[in-house]
Formats: sequence, C-alpha cells, structure tokens
Amino acid sequence: MTTLADPVPGGRPGDVPRADAFVTELSARGVRGIVLAHVDTAGIGRVKTIPAERLPVAVAWGVGMSPVFDTFLADDSIVTTDVLGSPDGDLRMYPDLDRLVDLAGQPGWAWAPVDRITQEGAPHPGCGRTFLRRVVSDARERLGITFRAGIEIEWSVGLDSAPAGEFVPAAVGPAYGAIRQVELSDYAADLLAACAAQRVEVEQFHPEYAPGQFELSAAALDPVAAADRSVLLRQTIRAVAQRHGLRVSFSPAVTAEGVGNGGHIHLSCHRDGTNLHAEGSGRYGMTPDAESFAAGVLAHLPALTAVTAPSPASYLRLKPSQWAGVFTAWGRETREAAVRVVTGMAGNREASANLEVKPVDLAANPYLALGCVIAAGLDGLESAMPLPEEITGDPARFAAEEAAARGVHPLPTSLLEAVEWFRADEVLRAALGPVLADAVIAVRLGEDTAAHGLDDARVAAAYRWKY
Ligand code: GLU
Ligand code: MG
Repeated sequence: MTTLADPVPGGRPGDVPRADAFVTELSARGVRGIVLAHVDTAGIGRVKTIPAERLPVAVAWGVGMSPVFDTFLADDSIVTTDVLGSPDGDLRMYPDLDRLVDLAGQPGWAWAPVDRITQEGAPHPGCGRTFLRRVVSDARERLGITFRAGIEIEWSVGLDSAPAGEFVPAAVGPAYGAIRQVELSDYAADLLAACAAQRVEVEQFHPEYAPGQFELSAAALDPVAAADRSVLLRQTIRAVAQRHGLRVSFSPAVTAEGVGNGGHIHLSCHRDGTNLHAEGSGRYGMTPDAESFAAGVLAHLPALTAVTAPSPASYLRLKPSQWAGVFTAWGRETREAAVRVVTGMAGNREASANLEVKPVDLAANPYLALGCVIAAGLDGLESAMPLPEEITGDPARFAAEEAAARGVHPLPTSLLEAVEWFRADEVLRAALGPVLADAVIAVRLGEDTAAHGLDDARVAAAYRWKY
C-alpha cells in the first residue's frame, strides 16, 4: 500500500534512518544515482536526479524545483495561470521511499516518484500525485471505499536507426502475430526480466494491432501505486528498448492514420474487503453503488477527456470502431463502449470484476487521470445516479435516433471541445482544486494553440517522441 501521508519538513516519520540504510544497500549494488520522477500537467515525464548518497537529505528537506513545470507544454514552452508559470518561487520534491527501486534497464540508477510541497511545508496545490493521494484518502475516510486500479500500456516499437523524427516499425508481423513476437523476442524477454527485477507483476504482454505495437498489463494495485507503476514501466520499456537499438513511443497516435496507443484504466471499488462490482444485486453482479459509480464516470466522460486525452494527438486516436471507446455508453465486455464492464470468470469475480475506461491514453498524467475518474465515479455513487441501459455492438452503427434515445453520444472530437466540457464540469474542477483545474485548462489551450493549423500528419509528428 502507498503511504497517503503528505511529506513534512524534516521527513516523514522514520524516513531518514530508512534512507540511511538504503544508501548502504544502494552503494553495495553499485547504484550511483536516483531518478526523481514526476509527470507534468501536459503528461510529460520530467525528472531530476541526485547521487544515491543524497537520499537522506532529500527525504528530510526535499530537492528544489520550480513550480513552472506545472504549466510546461509538450514542446517545453510555458504558459501561465494566475498562480503558475512565473519564474518566481521554489518547491521541494520528496521521494517516496516505499517506491524506491533499482532500474533494471538502467544499471547504476534507482528511481522514485515524488510529492511536492512548498518551502513552508504545505502540500503544493499543483502536485498531481498529492491530488490522487487526497482523492483516495478522502474516499476511504468519508465513504469507507478503497480502490484497485491498473493502467494498461500500449506502445509502438520503432527502429532507433530510422531517419530523424520518423517512425519505422521494428516488427512487421501481423497484429497479435506470432511472427511479431519472434521478431522482438530478445527485447521482450529482457523487458519481462526487468519487470520481474523491479517487482512489477506482469499479467499479459502481447503484440497489439498497429504496426510495431505491443501491450503490457500488470496486476491491480491501489491507485497511487498503479499510477507510479505506469510511470516506472514506461521508463523501463524505453530503457530496455534503447539497449536493443529500438525506440518506443507511447503517443496516442504515432501516425495520423490507423489504431492508436491507449492507456485504458481499470478500476474497482471495495468496501469492507468486498468488491462492489461482483456478487451484487445489479446488472452483471454490480452492487447499486457500483452501478452508480459507473454512471458517474459516464456522465462526466466528455469533461474527463480533457484530462484523460490531453494532447492534440489524442484526438487522432479517439475515432470510432478502433476500440478506443468514443461513445458515452457502457456494455459488458463491449470494446467499443467507453466504459466496459469486466466481470471476469464465473468463480473468480470477487478478484477480477472491474470497470475499464477506454478513452484514456498515455499522454495523460496518470495521477490526474485516475484521480478525476475516481472523482467522477464517486459523484455518481454519492448521488445514487442511475446507470442507463447497456449497449451491445458498435455504437458507430446505431442510427442517430437510436443513439439519442439510448443516451449514447460521441465524446469530444477535439481538445478544444473537451476543454469546454471540462470548464463546465464543477465536480471535476472542485476535485482538482482551482490551481490544478486552471493549469489543466491553460495547458490544454496552450497545446491547442501549438498545434493550430497543423494537418493530422504534422500533429502526429509533433507529438510522436514526446510521450
Ligand atoms: N489500441 C486501442 C486503443 O487505442 C485499444 C485496443 C485494446 O482494446 O486493447 O485504445
Ligand atoms: Mg490493447
């Protein structure tokens, strides 16, 4: 389990002696440096590093960092809000020792995610990880609800030797194909070994649909741990690829046409150790609370896309009939519905039943995405929101009247449209707080301006190697 406690000046209780012990162990294993990882509002992974022996100082007093990163864009330009984006001020990054791990794909390095607090010791209102910890602890304290979550990872593997900026698939075998698995056999085996060394419990790893595309999914964890693991896995997938002369992209749309890379969220709610999505009196074993949670996610989906699909490239992926889930609908194991109810096997439902939210990609900051999906679901649960009828089949084939009658609507088709929904969504904005909500709006509008006038191929190219 993740500690849900905020860092404090001087260090979380017990952290300094723990860090002292880690220094000895890290040095014995030849670890020289520690990567301190966070993800900005635009979804870009950013880091600072410290020599391993600085760890005790870092957990006591943090590592300095400008708040300006909260309003960075993917192209490293900076936008401003009322409180963010100015060159003034400093924050302290605090590594979470529960997550410290040697990077198997980068010998000599360890890794830890950070929370950020002010120099006065207050939580930084722009910190996505702090936001998710808050959402999770609030649900536990107020409603007695805990969560299990996972973020699927899809990525495209290209040749590092490709002409600058271009994507040349490193495997040409068919979708889900045995050929493709053989083509990248050594890379895949090294990746599985790295995951095991990092104590990541991989459940599946397979060649996906698009050229050079693969997917990996790992066992469910508490939401903060799941978001941390998503960041760690991407660092690992990339590092192992580089050692094989490969280059990876997690961009929602590596090319303008075809199937994109998703980052589907799996989520289940639990109370008193019971899975609310299994063995209940509602549809497919959902309890009334689980139905209302799903209804809340569905109701907020158009606004959620501003958080879960945050890039101009996200809207190259969010197309009908590509399993990205672009309609406000749910269905049991329906891969074209935005919310897929996963029941799992008869006999194993307590362990496996969950909701899959599909219009999510890996340009999304995983802390913001999970926190906002949970906030949306809890809004439904707390207001006992009714879950509409399920759909079967591909909603893209519904006649307009049928879709309207069923409440099935297309999700936003552009970042600007998503931002308008987000602006109007008081539940999501209140959950994020004014500083983060304003950062989301400013950064999305900045990305939209940055991509203005570019055709689809140029949008794909502009973001191809950013995620
Ligand atoms: N690649 C699809 C997407 O962009 C998902 C395929 C799947 O369901 O695994 O969401
Ligand atoms: Mg997939």
